[in-house]
Amino acid sequence: MQSIRDAAAIIASSKYVTCLTGAGISVESGIRPFRGPGGLWTEKGEPPMGGYRRFLQDPKGYRERRLERMGEFGLSLSKKEPNPGHVALARLEEIGVLRSLVTQNIDNLHYAAGSVNVLEIHGNTKWYRCVECMSRWPNEEFEVKDIPATCPECGGLVKTDTVMFGEPIPMKVLERCFEESERSDCMIVAGTSATVTPAASLPLIVKRNAGKLIEINITESEITYACNVNVFAPSGESLPLLVQEIEKLA
Ligand SMILES: [Zn+2]
Repeated sequence: MQSIRDAAAIIASSKYVTCLTGAGISVESGIRPFRGPGGLWTEKGEPPMGGYRRFLQDPKGYRERRLERMGEFGLSLSKKEPNPGHVALARLEEIGVLRSLVTQNIDNLHYAAGSVNVLEIHGNTKWYRCVECMSRWPNEEFEVKDIPATCPECGGLVKTDTVMFGEPIPMKVLERCFEESERSDCMIVAGTSATVTPAASLPLIVKRNAGKLIEINITESEITYACNVNVFAPSGESLPLLVQEIEKLA
């Protein structure tokens, strides 16, 4: 595909390449998106906008309602595997091309595929986090002794690491996303239409700094107009081809 060769050429001539991923890349691992056709929220309704406030007011009740609402989804996530798109991005990092990866996904699949420098803008369902001191623990290493769970370090409330509606994105993660975008002279935008802030602003930072944008989406999206190259194909097919092309050029 010509667009993949064009994308490879841009990446090969760039100095600092980063990537932004979204639900589209996880769909190919059989994970339901939240929004759009077939989306979990499309079916069940969006979570309350003030979800985080409700959590703070009644952590115990919130946890019970959430388990009821998300239980099945959470369980299904734990069985999912990375697909060739995730693996290709991990490979791109391994060969020194991809510097970091910002994801809006919460499913841990980038780490499972071997990516290292991952910024999870909406957290990770496999971790707990203290809302006060931001300490994090893998689920299996954090014993929930009482509900609401409290932080052994500072006594703060502990919740799932995934970011709720109305909850601030952990500042350090957000700062690093902006730093990485400022440094990028090329960003691959894969499996996302990049319409939800703050992720939506990251490609635009690259663009404003005269960097290049490469879109990998199955169809046109809100970001299409801003991109230098548009690859309209599933990421699980196009990303492995892209890596092959880049390895040829190296
Ligand atoms: Zn704490």
